[in-house]
Amino acid sequence: MIYAANFKMNHTRVSTTNYILELEELISSKSVLSEDDRVFLFPPATALVPSSKNITVGAQNGYPAQKGAFTGEIGLSQLEEFEIDTILIGHSERRELLGESQDVVAKKFEFFKESGFEIIYCIGEPLEIREKGKEAVFEYLWSQFEGIDIEYERLIVAYEPIWAIGTGKSATAEDIDEVHKELKNKISAPILYGGSVNSKNIASLKALDSVDGVLVGSASLEVESFFGLMEA
Ligand code: PEP
Repeated sequence: MIYAANFKMNHTRVSTTNYILELEELISSKSVLSEDDRVFLFPPATALVPSSKNITVGAQNGYPAQKGAFTGEIGLSQLEEFEIDTILIGHSERRELLGESQDVVAKKFEFFKESGFEIIYCIGEPLEIREKGKEAVFEYLWSQFEGIDIEYERLIVAYEPIWAIGTGKSATAEDIDEVHKELKNKISAPILYGGSVNSKNIASLKALDSVDGVLVGSASLEVESFFGLMEA
């Protein structure tokens, strides 16, 4: 299983450093991870730190350039300073709130692919598309792969239905299984589910063969809660 924590705009450098120390301690002392399990942590840009023994630290965002006149952004030079080579691209909050179009998302993907990054690429439909039925959902999801190299060897896909993010309303196991199986017909990369993953629904997600891991927001903010998902 892959366990990825997205802190979004939460935590500071100090609290992230403490979190990583505590999580490493829990992982080592309780040895719950198998050899194939992986743990990712995406803190805010101001709290980037190098990865530790069991935890790969990645960036929530990056500008597709080495450096330059891009006010407010961080590029490859800034990420390299912290030995970051993992990035989230296409998160719905960036698409919806910050207006990242598919074109922008695809440019970021291409740049960080060329830079050799491991990419967790997020897709997911809004409620109005879900309500139109399966055909509309798949048409929407496939459109989010425009300009994306689905054969990239360092690709991980995260399916995150927007209506399930931060709402406490997770998709059902059947809905998730159906989408993941369809994606797996064309994509060989691991596929994560994200959207209100918590201690109550993690067991049913882990039971699905089509779910290779989880991308977790709210339930990752406290170290005990995130670790609880690994233990479940
Ligand atoms: C996310 O934003 O990636 C996410 C899955 O958030 P939450 O777990 O809070 O729904």
